[in-house]
Amino acid sequence: MEMYRQAKWDEPLIFELSKPGRIGYTMPEPIEDVEVRIPEGLVRKELNLPELSEPEVVRHYTHLSEMNYGVDSGIYPLGSCTMKYNPKINEEIAGHPKVAFIHPYQDERTVQGALQIMWELEQWLKEITGMDRFTLQPAAGANGEFTGVMIIRAYHMDRGDTKRTEILVPDSAHGTNPASAAMAGFKVVEIPSNEQGMVDLDALESALSERTAGLMLTNPNTLGIFEEDILRIAEMVHEAGGLLYYDGANLNGILGRVRPGDMGFDIVHLNLHKTFSTPHGGGGPGSGPVGVKDFLKEYLPVPVVEFDGERYYLNYDLPKSIGKVKEFYGNFSVMVRALVYLKIMGREGLKEAGEIAVLNANYLTQKLKGTRGYGLPHKELRKHEVVFSAEPMKKETGVSALDVAKRLLDHGLHAPTIYFPLIVHEALMIEPTESATKEELDYYVSVLKKISEEAYTEPEKVKGAPYNTAVKRVDDVLATKRPIITWRMYRELREKGEVDF
Ligand SMILES: *Cc1c(COP(=O)(O)O)cnc(C)c1O
Repeated sequence: MEMYRQAKWDEPLIFELSKPGRIGYTMPEPIEDVEVRIPEGLVRKELNLPELSEPEVVRHYTHLSEMNYGVDSGIYPLGSCTMKYNPKINEEIAGHPKVAFIHPYQDERTVQGALQIMWELEQWLKEITGMDRFTLQPAAGANGEFTGVMIIRAYHMDRGDTKRTEILVPDSAHGTNPASAAMAGFKVVEIPSNEQGMVDLDALESALSERTAGLMLTNPNTLGIFEEDILRIAEMVHEAGGLLYYDGANLNGILGRVRPGDMGFDIVHLNLHKTFSTPHGGGGPGSGPVGVKDFLKEYLPVPVVEFDGERYYLNYDLPKSIGKVKEFYGNFSVMVRALVYLKIMGREGLKEAGEIAVLNANYLTQKLKGTRGYGLPHKELRKHEVVFSAEPMKKETGVSALDVAKRLLDHGLHAPTIYFPLIVHEALMIEPTESATKEELDYYVSVLKKISEEAYTEPEKVKGAPYNTAVKRVDDVLATKRPIITWRMYRELREKGEVDF
């Protein structure tokens, strides 16, 4: 028997490792003359748990963890997702019993500290964005977008301006933007980008009308390019009677430098889990606070946190509120992590984080550009992320962006985001964040160059990647058509011979 093995896809299940009678705990002897009275119907007849020793359990879960890759494993340049390092002190404070064990139904007098955390966080977010009031309720960026477009709707309806049925969205936008607008009952009008990768002003001009409810914009956009005409865009949208919505997922690229509130945006959402460091991916929890200018604050979800100079309290008295967008007050533990991060970084630290994120993306761009097979469409100068195109490689060798991404895994690296934004064919969207060191960036570029060489000499090798990972290339289609999500499902299918892995 091999004594050490690398974690593999066919790692035995913990139930399969079980040996009857093997124990991983010791319990005190029961006190004999105490009568335990449990109603007959509630007494368990059997408890089918695996039987293993403590070290076996620890090793099993350590093996499983080795099959994964996270921000604590190495560089994680997943574009648009801002996978920055999550400081451990965030976890320590969010896990403190006084934070973790409070209950949303507790009396306000007993949770003054929690309300203070929320209130202070709101002050930071106002300062950072240049907005006047925030709700912390939305559970993610997409939930924030939905909140924002509902506010846009409530604003126009309230003014009796009922013909505004369209939301404009650039073709470089994240898919959640049109989805949120459609969910709020709007018709989505797509605005094309120009050669430089920015909103085409002529196209915008012709799309604007008395039907325009608003424009949703990401700045820097998903190409990592700053929308230079933002002041003109704001003017155009406002002149047409629409509102301007800021998708703040890319705030890291301008943090501490410019503020959406000063660019003319009326509503913003932030992704606390991206810009302000909370582990994310794999389902959350996240937090997508929404900030508005003064004239929109009465539409915010209830309650909002107020401070009267002495005590903090929840204010439900917003008659024009769009209502609630999530139960209670939002994902409190993510707010705690964000506030810890903000306080540790401070004003200067935040600015520096944004600057290094931008420097890292541009350093990588300059090092990689000109490498055979990788095109660099649009403007060269980027903010926090860059989108290369593997289209030339695909045409010349058959090796696709997906193949490049898979081959990176063989080198112990996380892949960039691929095939997004949709306007770049064979997109490789790289966002190193400020957490990457120069050595890591150099290594990442050297591997991308090596893959380019391989693509032009041994394309089949790249197409067969990955070779060194616990799980080889997965069948994405089968995985969605026929998800196997519990060990029981897997075991049943395997016993019936319906899966051959
Ligand atoms: C991540 C992201 C969103 C959605 O945010 P979630 O928190 O994942 O719901 C929206 N827009 C852009 C540009 C993003 O990168």
